[in-house]
Amino acid sequence: MAAEKRFKYVILGGGVAAGYAAREFAKQGVKPGELAIISKEQVAPYERPALSKGYLFPHNAARLPGFHTCVGSAGERLLPEWYSDKGIELILSTEIVKADLASKTLASSDGATFTYETLLISTGSSVIKLTDFGVQGAEANNILYLRDIVDADKLVAAMQAKKDGKAVVVGGGYIGLELSAALKTNNFDVTMVYPEPWCMPRLFTAGLANFYEGYYANKGINIVKGTVAVGFDADANGDVTAVKLRNGTVLEADIVIVGVGGRPLINLFKGQVAEEKGGLKTDAFFETSVPGVFAIGDVAAFPLKLYNETRRVEHVDHARKSAEQAVKVTHLVVLDFCPRCCH
Ligand SMILES: Cc1cc2nc3c(=O)[nH]c(=O)nc-3n(C[C@H](O)[C@H](O)[C@H](O)COP(=O)(O)OP(=O)(O)OC[C@H]3O[C@@H](n4cnc5c(N)ncnc54)[C@H](O)[C@@H]3O)c2cc1C
Repeated sequence: MAAEKRFKYVILGGGVAAGYAAREFAKQGVKPGELAIISKEQVAPYERPALSKGYLFPHNAARLPGFHTCVGSAGERLLPEWYSDKGIELILSTEIVKADLASKTLASSDGATFTYETLLISTGSSVIKLTDFGVQGAEANNILYLRDIVDADKLVAAMQAKKDGKAVVVGGGYIGLELSAALKTNNFDVTMVYPEPWCMPRLFTAGLANFYEGYYANKGINIVKGTVAVGFDADANGDVTAVKLRNGTVLEADIVIVGVGGRPLINLFKGQVAEEKGGLKTDAFFETSVPGVFAIGDVAAFPLKLYNETRRVEHVDHARKSAEQAVKVTHLVVLDFCPRCCH
């Protein structure tokens, strides 16, 4: 018979929002055994942005436990021992494959069942892959993506295996820019490719982008704009050797990094909870349409007062603050003090 574990509070997902939520639960006096974090990652929550920055330095690179949450906001570093000292159960390497919000039950891929009274969903985002669109040759070795520490380790290994080689970065967003800089710092010959007229088009004006593109060009990074990767060549080992562009150019490549965006991971809750803007719709307290179920971090589509509209925000600052806000609400509601009306 499969194991079943019961908790008062479950945080589903073990990333940035989960780490900050756990710290807030501890501040609010959560009791030992009441809270569990369930994560498919093998490690305790960490500051994800480090993966595209310090983790890729050629010397003195950042490694865990150096960047566990909550160091990213100059807070206390929550090591695995911190969770056990507080009686918070860290259930790692565990992927939840079914969520039944009506019976308040989660089921994992290895057959375990978890029940909760209050659920905080912090499943974050997954990267969009070129294989999702059937791009020819996109399954070749050394065509890499970056979302978690396993991806980052693959990238570090590829940089070591293809030392001083040629790298092509597909995408002109922040991942593309950061990864191009990291590869250049690691002595790769780097070419960036993106379809837009300038980098970070949703955020940068043409003038601002021009400054950055000039800065990158001065560092020796080649930028190809207005076209996309339509196929890849590989050698007999299956390792990528070239990137074919729609404009007919063929770029030699030992490593390809793709940063073309992400998607919030909400499939587990389809049909059970209201959605908006591709995320789980919440109120200003990050509670979803299902009472007792909260959404925080990348998956939350919440009312942003400033613009008077619903927004999803994929940034650490939002992950941290939404987590803290939701925990304050869940905990205070449980104590019969409702911050919605008792100011
Ligand atoms: C490389 C990189 C660099 C970034 N740099 C910056 C930056 O400089 N500044 C900034 O503001 N933002 C940055 N971001 C974005 C920021 O990291 C995210 O917005 C933030 O991590 C969101 O937090 P989250 O807790 O919602 O999701 P995540 O931190 O992604 O955590 C989601 C967690 O849920 C787990 N999970 C998902 N599905 C399941 C399941 N079914 N079962 C069990 N576990 C599951 C995942 O494994 C993961 O542990 C960066 C992101 C990346 C990938």
